[in-house]
Amino acid sequence: MTNPIVEIDGDEMTRIMWAWVKEELLLPYVDLKTEYYDLHVKKRDETNDQITIQAAEAIKKWKVGVKCATITPNAERVKEYNLKKEWPSPNATIRKILDGTIFRAPILVNNVKPAIRFWKKPIIIARHAFGDIYDAVSAKFEEGSEAELVIKKKDGNVVNYNFPKFNGSGIIEAKYNIDKSITGFARASFSYALMVKLDLWFASKDTISKVYDARFKEIFNSVYENEYRNLFESNGLHYNYYLIDDALARAVRSEGGFVWACKNYEGDVFSDFVSTAFVGTLALMTSELMSPEGYYESEAAHGTVQRHYYRYLKGEKVSTNPTAIIFAWTRGLKRRAELDENQELYKFSGLLEESVKKIIESDKIMTQDVANVAEPPINAVVDTQTFIKAVKKNLENSLIKAGLFKA
Ligand code: NAP
Ligand code: MG
Repeated sequence: MTNPIVEIDGDEMTRIMWAWVKEELLLPYVDLKTEYYDLHVKKRDETNDQITIQAAEAIKKWKVGVKCATITPNAERVKEYNLKKEWPSPNATIRKILDGTIFRAPILVNNVKPAIRFWKKPIIIARHAFGDIYDAVSAKFEEGSEAELVIKKKDGNVVNYNFPKFNGSGIIEAKYNIDKSITGFARASFSYALMVKLDLWFASKDTISKVYDARFKEIFNSVYENEYRNLFESNGLHYNYYLIDDALARAVRSEGGFVWACKNYEGDVFSDFVSTAFVGTLALMTSELMSPEGYYESEAAHGTVQRHYYRYLKGEKVSTNPTAIIFAWTRGLKRRAELDENQELYKFSGLLEESVKKIIESDKIMTQDVANVAEPPINAVVDTQTFIKAVKKNLENSLIKAGLFKA
């Protein structure tokens, strides 16, 4: 490797698996260069969370980061780890600094059947994680109340918008979004679709929401026309706008294979729907963050798997699935490889992904969570380290075959 990737370590069971994956699957085969940031909850506490900000800044510098899951402290965690306070979610901090959009994709294996039988290729949900009802003002009102929306402009002018006459008591909500944020979301979505070479969908309800959703549609169209149409066409890709209800129906009867950019609320709902309908376990799900400037971070979609960690600490063998962590690394390495035009590294990452799939699909060696949803049902359930060892053996054989490693 010429340039490093930013390595962000984390907590609990994922921290343990992080070390195992590096030790067994990466260090023996890759000249791995990383700039290491330890986001263990105690380290964040010691540095007053400055370490999280430094890690995000490092991603700006090196363009690529891989992140282990981290504890977002609540009152219980403050007691458990004797913390100064409930530090904010590292993911939220990093996302704010990079201004990124989150992309969630299932890792498909042929013995976990999607609940929707037409689905053959991944559907990747891109969620706009800013504004709308997540930053809205809402209130209850009594019978006889009136309401208006008032916009005070910079020049002192005031514009009033009246709601219809209310016929009784009720509730009211005013939401907003920012052109710049929507534009960034659109750019991140088009860039990501280009990176994974898939069509992009965007959907809203502009027939009803004639100003609000229409603005989203308009911004997506203009970003596409001005910045991405040529790139999409030369890659044989398409951008499609649909009404949101039409999009859902189309998605369900499609064979998959597209990136679906969703407004904040739809993204919240559809990412859980699509992931559950596809693979039924969070450990077969990747999560990638892409910023409009092209800063990139990958991680597993799941958390620190606390319950397994406590069992591990008691000395029990645990069957926690390291697949999403392995894929966090391979996706980060692929991105580094693309930026640095490092074909060997790209090939290595692909072979590692294939090895994981082969162990599950052909050798039918799997962790408990996959065994629970596999078809036909499987009895051979292994612990995490046995799973990693099996992947390692397969990986080493394919690397030798590809001339990338000598035994
Ligand atoms: P979690 O860590 O995702 O685990 C929830 C449950 O999902 C587990 O108990 C386990 O079910 C199953 N699971 C998740 N990952 C698995 C894997 N790799 N292999 C097998 N099973 C897996 O969520 P949580 O327990 O709600 O959160 C724990 C901590 O993680 C919290 O402190 C939270 O703040 C943090 N968190 C961090 C991130 C992040 O950094 N991106 C995201 C979410 C949560 P069974 O116990 O039934 O086997
Ligand atoms: Mg949700």
